Parts: sequence; C-alpha cells; structure tokens
Amino acid sequence: MERINALEPVFLDTLPENDALEYGKIYISRRHGISKHLCPDGCGTVSVLTFGKEDGWKLTESDGRIMVHPSVLETMCPHRAHYYITYNRIQWL
Ligand SMILES: [Zn+2]
Repeated sequence: MERINALEPVFLDTLPENDALEYGKIYISRRHGISKHLCPDGCGTVSVLTFGKEDGWKLTESDGRIMVHPSVLETMCPHRAHYYITYNRIQWL
C-alpha cells in the first residue's frame, strides 16, 4: 500500500476488528474515547489512539473533519511514521 495524505473519519460506538479496517479511514468511538486506523504510510500497522485521558490525545471535530493533537508517532511501524492529523489531512513530519 502506498503512503496516503488523508484519513476519512468514521464514527461508531464500537470499533471494528483489526482485519476489517479499511485503509484510509479512521474509526472513532466517541463513547469509548478511542480510535483505530491503519498506519498511513501503508505498512499495515494498526494504530490505536485514546482520547480524553491525561496521557491521551486531544480530538477536535469540526464539520465532520477531525484534528488530533499532539502528533502521532507509530512506534510499531517499521518506518516509525510520524505525522499530524489536521482536518483529515496527514501532515508528515
Ligand atoms: Zn507505518
């Protein structure tokens, strides 16, 4: 899979199983404060983000677009992908 520059948010109560994740989508459960997506550099690593906790990320939504802070560093990714998610766009670092 090729590196991509955007993620489409999908809001659900319960997140899909890892093998059902579609590349290019980020699945977000507001209820559980967690999201899952495949690493956008195409390596296939499942990335899990937690929101709203002291050591988690901050998720902002606006008109169906999301922003995640701080940046995401994929420690399990062979390339250690590092990026911001800003209004559904991937900003590579
Ligand atoms: Zn990766």
